[in-house]
Amino acid sequence: MSTSLPSRHLKGAADSTGGQFRTTAHGEPSLSLSPVPARPHAHREPQDIDVELAGLYSELSTAKQRVAGAARGLHYTAGDSKTGPYGRGPWKMTDQEAYDVVAAKNPEHADLAFYDERVAKVEEIAAVIEPLNVEYAARPWPRAFLATSSDGHVHSSMRCPTCNRGESATQFQWMTDYSDQSEEDIVAAAGYRACTTCYPSAPIGDKHTLPTKMLSHDEVSKEAARREREAKAVEKAHAKAAKAIAGPDGGPLVLIAPHPNGWNETESFTTEASAVQWLVGEHVDNARHAQRGDHQYVADVEEAQRLLVDALVAKHGTSREEQEEIIAKKVAAKKKREGVA
Ligand SMILES: [Zn+2]
Repeated sequence: MSTSLPSRHLKGAADSTGGQFRTTAHGEPSLSLSPVPARPHAHREPQDIDVELAGLYSELSTAKQRVAGAARGLHYTAGDSKTGPYGRGPWKMTDQEAYDVVAAKNPEHADLAFYDERVAKVEEIAAVIEPLNVEYAARPWPRAFLATSSDGHVHSSMRCPTCNRGESATQFQWMTDYSDQSEEDIVAAAGYRACTTCYPSAPIGDKHTLPTKMLSHDEVSKEAARREREAKAVEKAHAKAAKAIAGPDGGPLVLIAPHPNGWNETESFTTEASAVQWLVGEHVDNARHAQRGDHQYVADVEEAQRLLVDALVAKHGTSREEQEEIIAKKVAAKKKREGVA
C-alpha cells in the first residue's frame, strides 16, 4: 500500500502531486525509475516510532491469537479432528481447507464472517506496521530489547542468534526509552545484561560489578513490592522504638526497688508507658510512706526513680527538669484522683 502513496519525501520530488520525472533547471532527471518505498514517517523521531511499533506488535499478537481462536471454530464446524495421541497433534485439515469445507456447505455460515473479520484486523494492524518498518530500514537506529526470562540479557534486535534457543520463543520487552541512544549509553544502562553479541563493546561483569538500569515490568513491580515491605518494616520498627525504653546506657532498663515488706525487687521495663506508670505510682506511694516516716524506704525508691528519669532524658534528649515536670503533673493528677495529700 505504501508504494502507491505520493513520494513527497523522495529526493528531488519537490512538487506535491507525486510527479516522478520532474526536471531540474539543468535539465537532468532528478529521480531514477526504480520504485522507492514511500516514507510517510520520515519526519518522526525514532523513539516515537518504536513506542508506536511496540504497541502495534502487542496488538498484532492479540489479533493473531484471536484468528487462531476463530480458526479452531472453523475446524470443529468442518468436522475436522486432531492427529496424534489424545488429539494433541495438529489438525488434519489446514485452516484454508477447513474454511473451504465450511464455505462449500454454507457460504453464509457465521464462522466464516467471524474468521474473515479477525483476519482483516490482523491485516489492518500489519498495514500500519509496514511503513514504520520501512522507515527503520531506511535509517536504522540503535534499539534495546530485554529478554524477560530471569536475568535476561539486553539485545539490539529480537533476532539475536543467542536467543530463541529453548523450546519456546524468547519473550522480549522492548526498552523503547533507549531507542536511538548510542551503543555506549545502552551498554552503560544495560550493565551486566548487555549482550556481547549484539553490543560488541559491552564489558563482561555481573550484577554487582556492572549493575543494570534495565528492568522488566515484572522486576519493577517486584522491586516496588519489596520497597513497600521494607518501608512498612521500618515504620513498624519506628513505632516500636517510639514506645520502647532502654536504660540510660542503652542497655535493658532494670532497677532494684525496695518492697514495702522489706525485701528488694528487681523491676525491668521495655516500654516507656510501663516505666512512667511505675514512676508515677511510686511517687504517690512515697507520699504515703513519707507520711508514715519511712525515710529509708523513700530514699531507696527515689534512687530507683532517678534511674528512670535518666532513661527518659536519654530517650527524649530533653533536660531532667523537663522530664521531672512531666512526671510531677502526672503525679499530681493521680494524687488528686486517689485523694492523697
Ligand atoms: Zn544479543
